[in-house]
Amino acid sequence: MPLIPCPDIRGIVFDLDGTLYIAPDFAATIQDAAADYMAGVMGVTPDEARQLMAAARSRLAEASGTVQTLSAVCNSLGGSIRELHAFFEERLRPEAYLTRDQRVIVQLERLRERFALYIYTNNNHALTRRILACLGLEGMFSHIFAIDDAWRPKPDEQMLEQVMAATGLAPSELLFVGDRYDIDLRLPEQRGCPVFLSQNLDQLLRLEGLLTASTSREKNRPLHKEMKR
Ligand SMILES: [Mg+2]
Repeated sequence: MPLIPCPDIRGIVFDLDGTLYIAPDFAATIQDAAADYMAGVMGVTPDEARQLMAAARSRLAEASGTVQTLSAVCNSLGGSIRELHAFFEERLRPEAYLTRDQRVIVQLERLRERFALYIYTNNNHALTRRILACLGLEGMFSHIFAIDDAWRPKPDEQMLEQVMAATGLAPSELLFVGDRYDIDLRLPEQRGCPVFLSQNLDQLLRLEGLLTASTSREKNRPLHKEMKR
């Protein structure tokens, strides 16, 4: 993996699910809960809902040429993203699946000394808070941007503009980190932001080293001294 090429980075925007933690069992319960919700909407069994959702996902992906989010799939089948998230909040138990990884905590603590850290997620605020508590990452982030801010799931240009404006940083100063290029990184990259695809723990844990190497090599002044926050 090459060094992250931008020496100007002052802030990092992380995706949450699949990026700051990987938990296939918990991801499966999210899909199950979504199928249960959509079964109620469509008046079918959860298994039928699962099949209809898989077909919708393929159809949408083929039409758009990109990977599709759960939000988009639910929307296309007549579901409401708000209701889906109310269902998630009631149903999902991240506490039963997620545990702390001290290596991730240490890396984020170190990054936080040099960069403003943010989360931008298609999850909702309540679950994001619970997930971060499970991971031991509460309080690490300057701001959390979640789906219930505007009910505009990623990828979304308008929401991205709002996120970028809220950080007060220029595109070249804002690194986006996520596990799905089409969802998390394509639009930020088009806007001129550096991006880093992280799909497993090894990649996530390499981030600080890549940034350290790129900033110390290309910069002759400590980044944290320039930061206002
Ligand atoms: Mg993700």
